[in-house]
Formats: sequence, C-alpha cells, structure tokens
Amino acid sequence: MAEQISAIRGMNDIFGTDAQAFDYVINTAQSTLAQYGYQSIRLPLVEKTELFARSIGEVTDIVEKEMYTFNDRNNESLTLRPEGTAGCVRAVVQNGLAHNQVQKLFYSGPMFRYERPQKGRYRQFHQFGVEVFGLSSADIDAELIVLSARLWEKLGLDTLELQINSLGSQAARQVYRELLVNYLSQFIAQLDEDSLRRLHTNPLRILDSKNPDLRAIIDGAPKLLEHLDDESSTHFEQLKTHLDDLGIEYVVNPNLVRGLDYYNRTVFEWVTTELGAQGTVCAGGRYDGLVEQIGGKPTPAVGFAMGIERLTALLMDKQLVPAQATPDVYMVLVGQDVERPGLVMAEMLRDALPTLNVQMNCGGGSFKSQFKKADKSGAMFAVVLGEQEVAKQRAIVKSLRIEAEQQSVGWSELAGYLNTQFNLS
Ligand code: ATP
Ligand code: MG
Repeated sequence: MAEQISAIRGMNDIFGTDAQAFDYVINTAQSTLAQYGYQSIRLPLVEKTELFARSIGEVTDIVEKEMYTFNDRNNESLTLRPEGTAGCVRAVVQNGLAHNQVQKLFYSGPMFRYERPQKGRYRQFHQFGVEVFGLSSADIDAELIVLSARLWEKLGLDTLELQINSLGSQAARQVYRELLVNYLSQFIAQLDEDSLRRLHTNPLRILDSKNPDLRAIIDGAPKLLEHLDDESSTHFEQLKTHLDDLGIEYVVNPNLVRGLDYYNRTVFEWVTTELGAQGTVCAGGRYDGLVEQIGGKPTPAVGFAMGIERLTALLMDKQLVPAQATPDVYMVLVGQDVERPGLVMAEMLRDALPTLNVQMNCGGGSFKSQFKKADKSGAMFAVVLGEQEVAKQRAIVKSLRIEAEQQSVGWSELAGYLNTQFNLS
C-alpha cells in the first residue's frame, strides 16, 4: 500500500455531525440575513498581499506573522485571505457598488492564518461575515447587533455576552495614543515582550493583552472612552439607546480594541465563557476610513464576522444540532433488473411529492439485508419492488414502524397512496 498523505496541521476535515452543525450555522445565518434584506457576495480566496498590508495594518499580528503569502509564477506577491473585510471592500470599490448607494452584504468561507493550532484556533477556519456600506448613523450598528442576537436566539444560544466599546475618530485616537504610551512607559520594566514590541507600534493592542500579570497596569490606564471626540461620543450614546430600546443587554468594555487597524467608533464582540480560552464567537465594528484607504470614495462602513468553528463547537457541546432528517421511504429492490424501474419510480415519487425523503437501496443485496438497511435508515415505509411486482406494475408498501398489513399498490396510485399516509398536502 502507498504511504498515506495527511492534511496540513491546523486545517481540518469537517464531517459527520460536525459538518451538519456547520451547515446548520450557515443556513440559519443566511436565512436570518435574508430576513433583513442583506445580499450574498462571493469573493476570491486569494488577493494581492498589498491589500491586506494596507487595510489590516502593517503592525498587526495578522500581517506581521500570520499570513500565508507566496509569489505566484509571475512573481506577484499573493496572500490567502486571513479575513473577509479587506476583499469585500476591494470588491465594492472595484465594482462601483458603494457609489451613491447602500450595500448590505454577507458571505462565508475559509480564512487562513498561520497561528498556533489549538481548540478554537485553526490555520484554515471559516467565517460568516456581514458588511454594510454607505451608512454612518448608529442605527445600522444597532441593526447588525440585533440581527446577530436574533441568530443566537434561532440557534438556541442564550448565554453569549455582548461587549461594546467605541474607538472614536482616528484623530482622537492619536491624542489618546500619546497619553497611553506616556502612562505605559512608567511600567517598562513590568511589560512583557509582546507589549514592549507594541508600545511604540500599536500600543492600543496592549489593552487587550491576555497576560494576567499586566491586568493591574491595564486597569489603571487612561480610558479611550473618556477621550473620545464629541461626535463619536454622541454616536456611542445613540448606539446604547438603540440597544436599550431593543432590550439587548451589553457590557461596555473599555479595553476592547480589536486586532485590526481599520476600526473606528463602534467595536463589539459576542463572547462565551463556555469554550475555554477562545471565547469570542463574533466580532466586528465600524471602519469608516477603509474604503478610502483602498482607493474608493470616502464611504462609511460597518460589519462583523462570526467564527463558524467556534459556533459549531458551542452547538455540539450544548447538543443543539437538530437531528438529520430520516428518510420517509426506503426502496427495497430485489431481483433481476429491478433497479431500472426502481430508479425511475424513485424519481417519479420525488417529482410528485417534493417534500418526501426517498432513499434508494443502491448496490443490490438480499431481501433480508436490504430490509435491515431499510429499518436502520429510520424510514417509515419500505417500498418493495421484486420481479413479480414489476411484471404486474405494482409495489409493496410495508410499514417499518407500526404493526400493519402490507399493501400492494399500483404504480400510478403509489404517489397518491404515500401522500395520504404522510398527509403531505
Ligand atoms: P482572536 O482574538 O480569537 O484571535 P481575532 O480578533 O483575531 O480573534 P477576528 O479577526 O475578528 O478575530 O475574526 C472574527 C472571528 O473569527 C473571531 O471572533 C473568531 O470567532 C474567529 N476566528 C479568528 N481567528 C480564528 C482562528 N484562527 N481559528 C478559528 N476561528 C477564528
Ligand atoms: Mg487573532
């Protein structure tokens, strides 16, 4: 036997109940977004490296050390997308979608980051993202939050906590940045390696350090929320009023800064304590400057992304994944050439009764083994075709769940018969 080839570390096959849960998250998210009038957009997995360097920020974890970057055969530097917003903004600008119009978009798919694989953190992971272009007022920020809350409700997730913060304007942040660096500089001796590195490149990131030794220092730091520009303050107050009106509980977390450079004003995260260290299942915020930075006209924008693996893990832990639908009918086909009328009959039933779940026994087998499979499938009825039935253009319908006489039904009556049995119309 040839040597097996395994998948790349941190890039997982998703199958069985996990795949079911995964699809359930995506389907539920799509139907929720449709309810709010959002539209699907599908984007490339690969973009020019410069797009991410320019949007996410040169001194962020992602751009410094997590990107899958390579030169293609033409010696152009390309990168597997580490997140969806940059590509979405690029697409909106390139296709003129934000010009004098509002866009409400959603997408899902794989993202790639060279991180240390662990529970809830992979090198290929999947996000469901939502982005809105052309709206600057806090009502749309509130809509994004309320629609995510509605999604949690549909999924049965009732323990997620909403954390919000405002990063203010770029200008106000610049002023605050100096205050913060001055404050943190008093503690140089106590800062860890990461924080020292960030002190002059990306000091705000120090605020969301997970290092417990820095807790007290961070808690004592000046608060960005207290140094917002007036417009951002008003915007944040409006957001909170909307959330209050909607009955959505939140915690203001002044240390929530997010890892990407492009955010301003609103930032938010939905977090759980039930997944261990990787507790953020959804994160987003406003990025009013990004469209212009990518070469478009100034366009306000706001969005968020959910981590599908983390949501899937929560649903699995809480046993919230709906059971796979069992077949209604299992077709047992025994005898010479019976699979030919069998295949045709199954299609006839699917045409006539679109909601009927029909499973064919493919691959033959004895009457006994086929019946075993029929029973195991969970189907209500076995529809049996043997050579005699085919000759008479009839089928035997046998209940697999209740004690009942089996029935011989003519082919032309079969759909009608099953319809009555299942009460489909
Ligand atoms: P974290 O703090 O967990 O690293 P992040 O700030 O890097 O998250 P974002 O870039 O905002 O995450 O991505 C949004 C969501 O995507 C996260 O909240 C998380 O649910 C999910 N996510 C991010 N990175 C990974 C990963 N490596 N593996 C699995 N899910 C991820
Ligand atoms: Mg990260």
